[in-house]
Amino acid sequence: MKAHDGIYLDGAWRPATGPDTIEVVNPVDEQVIGRVPAGTAEDVDAAVRAARAALPAWAATAPAQRAARLAALRDALAARQDEIAETVTAELGAPAKLAQAVHAALPITVAGSYAELAATYAFEEKVGNSTVHHEPIGVVGAITPWNYPLHQIVAKVAPALAAGCTVVLKPAEDTPLVAQLFAEAAHEAGVPAGVFNLVTGLGPVAGQALAEHLDVDLVSFTGSTAVGRQIGATAGAAVKKVALELGGKSANVILPSADLAKAVNVGVANVMSNSGQTCSAWTRMLVHREQYEEAVGIAATAVAKYGDRIGPVVSAKQRARVRSYIEKGVAEGARLVAGGPESPRERGYFVSPTVFADVTPDMTIAQEEIFGPVLTILSYEDEEDALRIANGTVYGLAGAVWAGDEEEAVAFARRMDTGQVDINGGRFNPLAPFGGYKQSGVGRELGTHGLAEYLQTKSLQF
Ligand code: NAD
Repeated sequence: MKAHDGIYLDGAWRPATGPDTIEVVNPVDEQVIGRVPAGTAEDVDAAVRAARAALPAWAATAPAQRAARLAALRDALAARQDEIAETVTAELGAPAKLAQAVHAALPITVAGSYAELAATYAFEEKVGNSTVHHEPIGVVGAITPWNYPLHQIVAKVAPALAAGCTVVLKPAEDTPLVAQLFAEAAHEAGVPAGVFNLVTGLGPVAGQALAEHLDVDLVSFTGSTAVGRQIGATAGAAVKKVALELGGKSANVILPSADLAKAVNVGVANVMSNSGQTCSAWTRMLVHREQYEEAVGIAATAVAKYGDRIGPVVSAKQRARVRSYIEKGVAEGARLVAGGPESPRERGYFVSPTVFADVTPDMTIAQEEIFGPVLTILSYEDEEDALRIANGTVYGLAGAVWAGDEEEAVAFARRMDTGQVDINGGRFNPLAPFGGYKQSGVGRELGTHGLAEYLQTKSLQF
């Protein structure tokens, strides 16, 4: 795999200040496929200074000019679609089809959506005797995870650039190669020097330096709740805005009137996709007690089909984490109906697609984010019980409701404490706001709501 041995700073690849590197490992065969610099606090500081210096000119560009750069970025990503998909397959382990259809294709759609929004958004509005200007918030520190590595980069960088902000990106250490491809695409698209900068590095070193940097105006972070909490506290102390996309433990509520087989099959597919490494995955399936055993049977049959088709999880650390949750599920008395903690292959970070039945709401596997191919199935007595269970975690990122008619499903969904709900299998909408209630985060990404995160208002009175 191609890997740059520098950081992308002020429009060029430059050597990092320290000698340390990060090895990138293919999770399928555990082979090292590349090395990237482990950036230091000094590198981060240099990148923030470049972003600060580039800010006034970029913030002053006409929205149409920024739209043109974003359209060029979309085209540059599209031209590299195959290379992007191959890179995500190599460093994340995503099966080729998923890598093409989601990991490579979705960022092109999102970059395109911000090219359009930059051109059409009302950056100025009239409110009575005032003119309200929506101005860029400034220098953005973006910290991203590995599970949808390019999507999460584009979901931050594209709206930031559309708003007129400049950016320093610190991508996940497990998936830095696709971040380097993104920097190449930004360069090719004519994004001016210093407007986008990339520092690869370790979270507690480069990530922390970026989150703590006093000259960063907004930190946008996606990742674990533990790190998000720390970043939120640091930003709070500096009276600085943050956007946090954190974990989830979403409920898939199957009401008695629903098409049970369809709801269970789609629910299983949702959890197994990307080897369960999706923050919005519906990892808790809620089924009425009278339909419970039937649903468990359908899920066991459905999951058997996934056996060899899902990829590995991202790293040895992640595999150990997922396996320890599976062991905990067994220890706490849940019934294993498929999979288990043993590795299905000798090589690679594979985890067996796993389904637990007889899961009670207080069990660890029903409360904590596992981030692996593990589905828990819970039973409920009536709708009120289902709602209590669905809302009964610290998270509130996503969810699903299935019912015989849409109105019934919508009425239930409106009572859920969560940021987005798919009704009877509704499709993902890359223009709809994405983000969480409760400890799933602060702020929204995608579409106009995602753009607004990078803007602040100035009111002029006449
Ligand atoms: P993480 O939160 O440790 O890492 C996410 C990003 O934050 C990475 O770029 C990392 O380098 C950086 N980071 C780590 N420590 C930091 C610090 N102290 N200061 C600043 N930045 C820091 O997540 P992880 O270790 O990659 O995964 C752990 C768990 O997080 C997963 O098992 C999963 O539950 C959750 N997760 C959630 C999402 C999501 O989309 N919500 C994505 C990835 C991981």
